[in-house]
Amino acid sequence: MDARTARRLLDRERRDAAQRLADLEASFTDIVESATDSNVDDEHDPEGATIAAERQQLGALAEQARSQVAAVDAALVRVTAGTFGVCERCGRPIGDERLEARPTATWCIDCARRTEQRARG
Ligand SMILES: [Zn+2]
Repeated sequence: MDARTARRLLDRERRDAAQRLADLEASFTDIVESATDSNVDDEHDPEGATIAAERQQLGALAEQARSQVAAVDAALVRVTAGTFGVCERCGRPIGDERLEARPTATWCIDCARRTEQRARG
């Protein structure tokens, strides 16, 4: 895959992740604000527990979005270095189809599959 295509895919990926993060942060603020409005701050209160769980879930999703942005930035560094699209494990090229679906992939499909199989035992 050429650097131009890679950058285009990565730009889109970064925009999507940044948008997701912004949405999550807005939801987070909503929850915090509505909690303040109803004066729910006791986690033993059933509603308070629900809010705490929601906040925790949003926090986890926001963390995922943040690491996706970081993964895109790392991939952009690889584009500049000329190592984008090369499997970090076996050194073979990662297929264009895989990069189009997942531009932040650092392993080729074979290595990714082999590791999944190992993880499953
Ligand atoms: Zn590989």
